[in-house]
Amino acid sequence: MSNKAAADELRNRLRGKLIGPDDPSYDAARMVYNRMIDRRPRLIVQCADVADVMATVKFGLEHKLLIAVRGGGHNAAGLGVCDDGLVIDLSPMNYVRVDPKKKTVLMGGGALWRDVDHATHAFGLAVPSGIISTTGVAGLTLGGGLGYLTRRYGLTIDNLLAVEMVLADGRFVTASTKEHADLFWAVRGGGGNFGVVTAFLFKAHPVDTVYGGPMMWPMEDAAEIMRWYRSFIVKAPVNISGFFAFHTVPSWSPFPEHLHRKKMCAIVWCYTGPMKRAEQVFAPIRKLKTPSLDLVGPIPHPALQSMFDRLYPPGLQWYWKADFVRTLSDEAIALHLKYALKMPTPESTMHLYPIDGAASHVKKSATPWWHRDARWAEVIVGVDPSPSKVEEIIAWAKEYWSALHPHTLGGAYINFMMEEGKDRIRATYGKNYDRLAKVKKRYDPANVFRVNQNIGPS
Ligand SMILES: Cc1cc2nc3c(=O)[nH]c(=O)nc-3n(C[C@H](O)[C@H](O)[C@H](O)COP(=O)(O)OP(=O)(O)OC[C@H]3O[C@@H](n4cnc5c(N)ncnc54)[C@H](O)[C@@H]3O)c2cc1C
Repeated sequence: MSNKAAADELRNRLRGKLIGPDDPSYDAARMVYNRMIDRRPRLIVQCADVADVMATVKFGLEHKLLIAVRGGGHNAAGLGVCDDGLVIDLSPMNYVRVDPKKKTVLMGGGALWRDVDHATHAFGLAVPSGIISTTGVAGLTLGGGLGYLTRRYGLTIDNLLAVEMVLADGRFVTASTKEHADLFWAVRGGGGNFGVVTAFLFKAHPVDTVYGGPMMWPMEDAAEIMRWYRSFIVKAPVNISGFFAFHTVPSWSPFPEHLHRKKMCAIVWCYTGPMKRAEQVFAPIRKLKTPSLDLVGPIPHPALQSMFDRLYPPGLQWYWKADFVRTLSDEAIALHLKYALKMPTPESTMHLYPIDGAASHVKKSATPWWHRDARWAEVIVGVDPSPSKVEEIIAWAKEYWSALHPHTLGGAYINFMMEEGKDRIRATYGKNYDRLAKVKKRYDPANVFRVNQNIGPS
């Protein structure tokens, strides 16, 4: 059978759309969030349902095609797309169903966090996720998932109850602590290595209006703020979270004109305790050093989740480097300042996300996430709209990262990594790596799902 005839046969079996290079929507369909990635798959299948996913996996196996799986397409390394292979795109499967009685949420493998936040907020509930609402549920969850609610309710994987998956042999299974428990263990941090997740079931928490937003200080105060922050946040009650950042102030409202394009340090807060106590909780923080800009106040949880979407729309050039951090020494702080002052473009940034609190109460072996003793996930991010800046943002991120790396725990959050090789993946999973490799061998011995932070079958 010719390639065209085979593709036509698959097309006839689908409810979703099959897109090839001649299709007018091909360029839009192959594009991912990071515009530095420019890959040309042979076929893209936008799956409408599980049957589509099963048919497409089977087709890929029969025709020995490299398979990439796409959720939200946000992965900076571009792992939701491949050259000359088959992309299984789950974006049409973005349904979200909330069970307010059980406080659980079921969602399709292509849902974005904004879909989830919209659906859960109507019931005063939330699932712990990340800080940009256009990120995919699938990739974020399969890598671990950290954000504003991590200190209080744990990583996103700590709230996962079950998944439905299509495996490398085309079988459909449910995995939870009761069924395929080894597989369920592996998908909670082991990435897309084990199959295509077609649905996620989460527990949700009562989170409605929170007290949050950014506070910003001038760079001259950054060392002092960072030193205060390193001891404050690790002792703070778990209903307070705040990530530290270096940023350039955007040139639009609500940022005041006199601060536009200034490099500053910031803490972006999220307090989920009783609202009537919020002002009191933040009074000593505000007294510490009056912020140049204070946008912290009551805000609906989905609004905080999407606050930075405008700053980081799809289509920018992205390069990032990451590590896990246990302690922030004075020496590390001095290095942070040195490189923050050299941020090469207005969108470039550095974030330190707190991942202590509830996330650190889970045993290292309970999920693949090994660095439960880390206090922060550090990410150094070079970003710019123009391809002409690519070399500059990469050089800055690499140099900054190399200077700080000796002050860190070694491994990094896999979702904040580019394609950096096996040693980095091993350092991330620590002693959990061998167990992941065993599960991989059991469920995907031929490494069908390898467009990811790959764990080879042991
Ligand atoms: C602007 C921005 C902000 C971010 N903020 C945060 C944050 O606050 N917290 C955080 O934890 N992370 C954050 N991330 C990182 C994010 O978690 C990763 O980029 C993640 O991979 C994105 O998931 P996705 O589904 O959108 O990606 P995709 O590019 O679609 O996929 C990423 C990986 O997951 C696999 N995959 C996707 N869908 C499936 C599926 N259904 N079944 C099996 N495998 C699948 C893919 O094969 C690929 O290997 C951010 C990323 C960006 C770009």
